[in-house]
Formats: sequence, structure tokens, C-alpha cells
Amino acid sequence: MLSDEANRSKSEFLSNTSHELKTPLNSIIGFSDLLLQGDLGEISKEQKKYIGIINESSYLLLNIINRILEISNVERGHKDLTYTKFNLHDAIHDTCTMMQVMANRKDIELIVDIDIHLSEITADILKFKEIIYNLVENAIKFIPSEGTVIITAIQDGANLKISVADTGIGISEENKDRIFDPFFQVDGSTTRRYGGTGLGLALIKKFILMHGGNIWVMSESGKGSTFTFTIPIKGQFNYQ
Ligand code: ADP
Repeated sequence: MLSDEANRSKSEFLSNTSHELKTPLNSIIGFSDLLLQGDLGEISKEQKKYIGIINESSYLLLNIINRILEISNVERGHKDLTYTKFNLHDAIHDTCTMMQVMANRKDIELIVDIDIHLSEITADILKFKEIIYNLVENAIKFIPSEGTVIITAIQDGANLKISVADTGIGISEENKDRIFDPFFQVDGSTTRRYGGTGLGLALIKKFILMHGGNIWVMSESGKGSTFTFTIPIKGQFNYQ
């Protein structure tokens, strides 16, 4: 276990390093974008293919750096939740609409089932949507092909309880807690099938804890997973 002081230094180091990495990375992204668009002259098919790989990898790296920044910001105590009152149905449906193409490509049915008595909640809407987006994206990603993802929202006392259940590859007992650690991926090999950064669950868990909620997973290898999280419906939790 690191002391508070060591943790602060670690987060500060990560945050500074991430900022430093973004400047050169933005040049790589910008110039490879230009080359790909043909703005700097004709390029061959072969060149296009390799510049495309440089471009895609840079975006992936940018995504990782942004996530590290977000995680270290939360760890440094930058608790900037912006609470607003918003419509729960719209927030969930908007997010699922973004995932529909990805689901269709793999023949996956997305089902949304929200308790009709639930209407408005008070939370940070951007972070709320990011939580849903990450869980649904993972659910789709870890179904090899054909299957179902069900998003359920119910009221549980003062809390909203949302579950995202999939019929995918599942998670073994030994990995259930570790998947919430930064960078942990069940298949962390360089040849892994599913891509990703291993930072999504670590980040959304922090967002949920900031709201005063919790997240857990129930799963069986080969039989799918159900991620469930709670957050207070009326917000205003004093995050320490
Ligand atoms: P990423 O998906 O980018 O690898 P996450 O932090 O979102 O990172 O997830 C960490 C790991 O947890 C994944 O790499 C995967 O091994 C496991 N995981 C997450 N969601 C699921 C799911 N729905 N089904 C099976 N495994 C999952």
C-alpha cells in the first residue's frame, strides 16, 4: 500500500507526464490525418495502409493518455462533479443509440428496460453517460458474436440501480475483483483478441464512488456477465 504522500506524487507524475506526451502525439495525429486526406499530395495504397496504422495507433494512445489523466485527476482530489437534473430514459437511450451500429455488426440485440416510475435523476450527466457507454461497450465487445445485452434500471430505496447483462465470455472468480484495477485485462497478451486499454472499469468505478454509489459484477466463465451499479437518485453526495 502506498502512503497518501506517495500516492499524490504518483498521480502528479502521471498527470504531468500525460500532458507532456500529448503535445508530440497531437503532431503525429495531425500530420497523419493530413497525409491520409491527401492534402500533402498523392500517396500509394501501401503508404496509405501504414499511415492508417500510425493514425489509428496514435488515437488509441491518446485515448489511453486521456484516461490516465482522468484517473489521476480523480486521485488528486479534483472532484469536479457537475450535478444537473436530467431525464434518465433519454440519457440511457442516447447512449445506447451510439452503440447500435457496433451491436448490429455482431448480431447482438440491445434491450433497454427502465422502470416506468423512474423519470429524472440528479447526477453528473457526462460521467453518467460515460459509465453506461463503457459497460455497454464492454458487454458488446466480450460477446464473440450473436447474443443479447440487457440494460435494466430500477429504483432501490434512495438509489438508482442499473444492470448491464450480457451473454458473452464471462469472467472467472479469480479475476472478478482485479478487472476494476487500472490496466488489468483478463487477456493481457500482445496477441489479445479484444483490444482496449484496461482503464475503462477503473475510471467508471471512480466516477460511481464519487457519486456515492457502488459497482460489482456477477459472472460465470462462458455464460456471460452482469455488471450492476448504484447511484443516489437525488445526487448531492459529499465525496471525500
Ligand atoms: P478494456 O475493456 O479496455 O480492456 P476495462 O477496464 O473496461 O478495459 O475492462 C477490463 C477487463 O475486464 C477487460 O479487458 C476484460 O478482460 C474484462 N471485462 C470487462 N467487461 C467484461 C465483460 N462484459 N465480459 C467479460 N469480460 C469483461
